[in-house]
Amino acid sequence: MRIAIFPGSFDPFTIGHHDIVLRALNLFDEIIIGIGHNYTKRETFPLCERLAAIQRIYDNEPRVRVEVYDGLTVDFATQHNAQFILRGVRSTLDFEYERNIAEANKQLSGIETVLLYTRPEYAHISSTLVRDLHSHGKDISQYLP
Ligand code: ADP
Repeated sequence: MRIAIFPGSFDPFTIGHHDIVLRALNLFDEIIIGIGHNYTKRETFPLCERLAAIQRIYDNEPRVRVEVYDGLTVDFATQHNAQFILRGVRSTLDFEYERNIAEANKQLSGIETVLLYTRPEYAHISSTLVRDLHSHGKDISQYLP
């Protein structure tokens, strides 16, 4: 069984995230979406709402599970016998950031990070953008799966 963790804040989960999951289903037997819960980080969308919303998207996809975790991603991955961490890359900025984390995670646990490039049409979509639009009363439905 090839099991991958897809960790993130997902505040909120966007069509960019969804696309990464759908494409990764061709690579892995199971994907566990891990909503990283950071007590010190301010969250816009309540954790329970985010969990329920993501679960609803994958209701009919038994190979995708959604869980909340705190602590280190590698510990969460090890608990679930995951051999891979899945991440998406939109830009060189993402790339540099992901490289450092991937290196640390590999050293800590031997777990490999697999990066998928964003679809060009989704490259500008971030949870931050969606939160900003939402806070100004704009309709964000086009960014949500
Ligand atoms: P984090 O807070 O850990 O960066 P995010 O919820 O912002 O978590 O993102 C989770 C993962 O999804 C990251 O690897 C991020 O680069 C990726 N991602 C975010 N938006 C997109 C997008 N539009 N296309 C592809 N990957 C994306």
